[in-house]
Amino acid sequence: MTRPPHGEFGLIAALAEQFGAPPVEVRLGIGDDCAALAWPDGHCLLWTMDTLVEEVHFTFAYLTPRQLGAKSLAVNLSDIAAMGGEPRYALLSLGWPKDRPLSEALEFGRGLAEAARHYGVKVIGGDTVASPPGVVITVTVLGKVPEGEMLRRAGARPHDLIFVTGPLGEAAAGLLILQRGLALEQEVAAPLIQAHVNPRPQLAAGRLLAGSRLATALIDLSDGVASDLWHICRASGVGADLEARRLPVPPGVAAVARQLHLAPLDLALKGGEDYQLLFTSPPDREASLYQAFSQAGLGAPVRLGEIVAGAEVRLISADGDKIISGTGYNHFA
Ligand SMILES: [Mg+2]
Repeated sequence: MTRPPHGEFGLIAALAEQFGAPPVEVRLGIGDDCAALAWPDGHCLLWTMDTLVEEVHFTFAYLTPRQLGAKSLAVNLSDIAAMGGEPRYALLSLGWPKDRPLSEALEFGRGLAEAARHYGVKVIGGDTVASPPGVVITVTVLGKVPEGEMLRRAGARPHDLIFVTGPLGEAAAGLLILQRGLALEQEVAAPLIQAHVNPRPQLAAGRLLAGSRLATALIDLSDGVASDLWHICRASGVGADLEARRLPVPPGVAAVARQLHLAPLDLALKGGEDYQLLFTSPPDREASLYQAFSQAGLGAPVRLGEIVAGAEVRLISADGDKIISGTGYNHFA
């Protein structure tokens, strides 16, 4: 008997081994944000799938069916953004308990349809099944990217700079506000709750990075920088030094952490669900990068640190250095 795999990433690696190597037209198989297939017109077809499980990823105590519909598409679009791609089509598998009203399933559909229209995506198929233990949603999204522009997790090189497209820890802080019923001023709490309920896939930034060739590696933040940067490191065969003082932790996130006696940096590094883009860029392109984002009307990316030789993600702070590789969210951990 083979030894059982360890944790979510060990399971994925063991499964990938069972499935074997993909055929030649598959430009990217298991191990990136999307699979990519060569398409005759010089594009790659991007293909991604994400599942949301009631009581694992969400609860109806904090999320309406309509919000859930929009979010189930948004988390998939974030993976298309993470390749520099443009989303086109979606398929939905909806598992719904018999004792939950179907009117709520229609509300879910309304939220998904509104998000699809907003992002120019067509829902073209799927499946509906009974799911006695709770709602289970799987959305598949297909997208396109010019083959030469596609950005992967592999490609980061020592001395490349590490950037993120927006603040860290907001969604995690928002979820904590909802779960713990924290008392915070409305203007502090609202944007954090919004970040959890209504994530915004960074499609424009992804396309900009791919089209301008300003990035060497790209991933979206679903599990937290500590895990997602480590994915870039492992795919690229490099290490990373993060400077704690540079991490964009909004005051609201720090306020939530204070109330719960948590370290704000833990929310920023391990919280997950930020759905910002994390990318690496050659050091001599930093000025061009800020200029390109500004010209596109996008907020300036924030520099977090530097790619180094090695294999670990290291957090550099006044308290000393610490290895944080893979310490973000992990199913089965
Ligand atoms: Mg991803």
